[in-house]
Amino acid sequence: MSRDSNEILIVGGGLGGLSAALALGRKGMPVRLLEQSEQIGAIGYGIQMGPNVFSAFAQMGVADAVRAQSHEPSALLMLDAYSGEQLAAVPFDETFRARFDEPY
Ligand SMILES: Cc1cc2nc3c(=O)[nH]c(=O)nc-3n(C[C@H](O)[C@H](O)[C@H](O)COP(=O)(O)OP(=O)(O)OC[C@H]3O[C@@H](n4cnc5c(N)ncnc54)[C@H](O)[C@@H]3O)c2cc1C
Repeated sequence: MSRDSNEILIVGGGLGGLSAALALGRKGMPVRLLEQSEQIGAIGYGIQMGPNVFSAFAQMGVADAVRAQSHEPSALLMLDAYSGEQLAAVPFDETFRARFDEPY
């Protein structure tokens, strides 16, 4: 396996490692990413991403691609696990978008 002496080695292809590899690669830096798992794929969970994440995705040039695979909820509700009573709600409405500029 040939190596570039300037190569940046990233260990772990999770959210952090893949994001770092993508961001560095887009800047033209040689990156080698090592991941212990034999394959990368969904493991059955959804992942919530706040507006700050979409700002980062935009900088990396992948915001549209992520949006195309995402569901944008109308609100975040916090419920009491025992009674089901609603404890708090964050509507993702125009006020939210005006403040944060990106979706949840
Ligand atoms: C059930 C659950 C739900 C979550 N939901 C959310 C959510 O909705 N929104 C949110 O923002 N965050 C969520 N998180 C947190 C989020 O998943 C973590 O903050 C994020 O994955 C951390 O990224 P990471 O790259 O640091 O680590 P990871 O994503 O854990 O990636 C680490 C990678 O390194 C690899 N690795 C480890 N050791 C080695 C080695 N020696 N050699 C090579 N590879 C190695 C692992 O296989 C793995 O792929 C959730 C976490 C869990 C467990």
